[in-house]
Amino acid sequence: MRRLRKIKIVATLGPASSDYETIRALFEAGADVFRLNMSHGSHDDIGVRHGIIRQIEKDLGRPIAILADLQGPKLRVGVFANGEEELAEGSTFRLDLDDAEGDATRVQLPHKEIFEALEPGSSLLVNDGKIRLRVRECGPDFAECEVIVGGTISNRKGVNVPDVVLPLAALSEKDRKDLEFVCQLGVDWLALSFVQRPADVEEARELARGRAAILSKIEKPSGVAHFDAILEASDGIMVARGDLGVELPVQNVPPIQKRLVRKCRAAAKPVIVATQMLESMIESPMPTRAEVSDVAAAIYEGADAVMLSAESAAGAYPVEAVMTMNNVAIEVESDPTYRDVINASRGGIKETVADAIVSAAREIAETTNIKAICCFSQTGTTAVLVGRERPMVPIIALTPMRGTARRLCLSWGMHCVTTGEVSRFKEAVINAARAARTEGFATAEDQIVVTAGVPFGQSGTTNILRVAPCEERLIFATDPG
Ligand code: ATP
Ligand code: MG
Ligand code: MG
Repeated sequence: MRRLRKIKIVATLGPASSDYETIRALFEAGADVFRLNMSHGSHDDIGVRHGIIRQIEKDLGRPIAILADLQGPKLRVGVFANGEEELAEGSTFRLDLDDAEGDATRVQLPHKEIFEALEPGSSLLVNDGKIRLRVRECGPDFAECEVIVGGTISNRKGVNVPDVVLPLAALSEKDRKDLEFVCQLGVDWLALSFVQRPADVEEARELARGRAAILSKIEKPSGVAHFDAILEASDGIMVARGDLGVELPVQNVPPIQKRLVRKCRAAAKPVIVATQMLESMIESPMPTRAEVSDVAAAIYEGADAVMLSAESAAGAYPVEAVMTMNNVAIEVESDPTYRDVINASRGGIKETVADAIVSAAREIAETTNIKAICCFSQTGTTAVLVGRERPMVPIIALTPMRGTARRLCLSWGMHCVTTGEVSRFKEAVINAARAARTEGFATAEDQIVVTAGVPFGQSGTTNILRVAPCEERLIFATDPG
């Protein structure tokens, strides 16, 4: 089963997508990575969804990445007796510390420190800024607010207080528990919310102890300001536009997105563009033209992945949303302008043997009719370097490590295959040729490019490139020895 596009699709799971059939349909429609949001749903729910994903992986024989998104220091309201309420403009709505279920007049905001920081006149933004409240009166355990912009408020919606600096730790007690829970369950990526400095990433990395790769969500002005150091400390990035567009003026988001995507590609680390990509598809089977353009823009920019949030977690058309992203990607990626844009934004500096080898692999593959670039690696380093080149031919990432194959599912263009351990390059070539044939990328008459780092088992040593035939007999006949 191969994808007909390079960009990857991340789909958030939730009440609209929690049974085997739906999750499998999402995968078959094109979801490469599933996101489990630790802000919503119990550990039991998360455990069940995790089990279903691993079952689908087994049933279909394809690696699937699981990304667990830790809530981080995000302020959220409690729950409502009716699940949701309509807030009308001009009405009064109270936030307090009482853990009783909310109604149309009040709801819990379980963060003591926020009430201490609020003042009459402070603005509160709910649900990625869709609802706006202004504090009229407040005390140590409540805030009486006027609804400035109304809308539907529902369980655990996020709250931002842009004009107030809150003294919050990067990982809460809940985050630490969630982190340990998902690491024991076995996830491939851990997303950290509201990362502000590289130390936040290092803290999580210590707790994860190599059990998951760390992805930083950039959604605060300080995360943008310290981006270079955060990128250096992280394995991947998410441009989390929901909170970013509330914490900063919305018009600042597109240039930040472009800059971050470019820097991630240069660093060969995957970057996800997230939030409201097909928002109207929560309720409608058809996206708006503007949403389609937004998805297309992220693809033209060269992002590794685009993401669905409520569209796949809580919407009425989860599978259609994935299909829409898939179709937009296929169309954009076959546009000659896409190729021009991607080629023009390739970093020109080559400093290492590895840089030169992956660059040569792309040039050889694109100037002849080679069917795929096969990269053999343990940790995935060779594969992501090839991916950074953004070759138009397929990339087959072969690895004996199941964790590497899963993690690479988030990276642009990777078709991941797990193989047995190999000790000699010739074996790697044979495995690569076999994978290219059986996975439908090449026939026995075709040729492939194979790159790897030898000796095997040492990461960061990409040093070999071979143009090889796909037929086994010819591989032996042409083996240099
Ligand atoms: P974040 O800031 O981490 O993105 P979020 O609240 O925006 O948090 P998303 O995962 O982006 O959450 O999903 C968007 C909306 O979809 C949520 O606000 C919630 O209403 C709904 N949703 C998502 N996952 C779940 C879930 N597991 N259970 C219930 N509702 C969910
Ligand atoms: Mg967010
Ligand atoms: Mg969100």
